[in-house]
Amino acid sequence: ESKHVGGHTYHFYDAQLRTLAKRNRGLIRALPHALESGQIKIVYQPFFNAQSQKLCGFEVLVRWTHPEYGRIPADRLIRLAEEAGSIQELGSYVTEQACLLAREWPSDLLLSVNVSVGQLESKAFLPDLTRILQDTGFPASRLQIEVTESIFMEPDASTFTLLHSLRSQGIIIALDDFGKGFSSLGYLRFFPFSKIKLDALFVRDMLREPRAASIVRAVIELAIDLGVAVTAEGVETQEQLSYLTSLGCTEIQGYLLSHPLPPLEAMALLTRDGFPEARITAS
Ligand code: C2E
Ligand code: MG
Ligand code: MG
Ligand code: MG
Repeated sequence: ESKHVGGHTYHFYDAQLRTLAKRNRGLIRALPHALESGQIKIVYQPFFNAQSQKLCGFEVLVRWTHPEYGRIPADRLIRLAEEAGSIQELGSYVTEQACLLAREWPSDLLLSVNVSVGQLESKAFLPDLTRILQDTGFPASRLQIEVTESIFMEPDASTFTLLHSLRSQGIIIALDDFGKGFSSLGYLRFFPFSKIKLDALFVRDMLREPRAASIVRAVIELAIDLGVAVTAEGVETQEQLSYLTSLGCTEIQGYLLSHPLPPLEAMALLTRDGFPEARITAS
């Protein structure tokens, strides 16, 4: 409908798209240097046992501040790296840095790494991961890998084999953002997940929207029934925390207890007295 009256709109939209495409190309070109020069940083967001509020581990999240374009959101960086064909390189870099840090942590803490479709599809994924665990000495049993259901968009036997192979090495596999997309219960039946991460959208709305609350209750009950852990993402208020705890949710993550932290602050948290009574609000 933009052919006649909307001509300007069309041109505007077109120009915007072209600017975006150009910027994406610029960012894709900047990626290798960003990795080498340390523009890409890693932050660590803790997650806690819902009942005891004891620290369980940290999730690794990337941060890119480009000198010209500013902060690039993590999900955008991941998409760009997938387009550029450098996702495996980025993922390995992040995983290795995180394992080097995490091997200094107390031995009951988990390290949780997000893994995208492009990484799982990469032939180098498994050999790289094996090498990283060997080189750093970080135990596979303390590594958690977070995958989203987008890995099932084109389900094939090799994804199944890969997940089972990771599982058999003792790696914990979590299904991230559960409920957000095309969640199928079939995944939970046939894949070796140890944990479900309930998407933040449900947590955000559950106390004012009965339907969101119904889904939260059902997912937690399902997890309990399946014998898998369930982590609630995006917990921002005490009321949300209390509700989730009363439902038997296993783990809690969100700004209420801590924002993602730079490495030194994550380390400092391990020695801090009385944590998590003292809320962490850095970065
Ligand atoms: P995710 O794995 O579901 O991570 C949770 C996101 O929610 C993170 O955003 C985190 O900073 C944010 N968050 C945590 N607590 C709260 C809260 O209480 N409230 C709100 N509003 N947000 C909260 P971030 O860091 O921007 O990452 C976005 C997504 O990008 C991640 O979603 C993950 O899918 C992807 N990602 C980030 N780092 C990596 C990485 O190293 N590798 C891969 N493959 N993907 C990554
Ligand atoms: Mg995640
Ligand atoms: Mg998530
Ligand atoms: Mg997400």
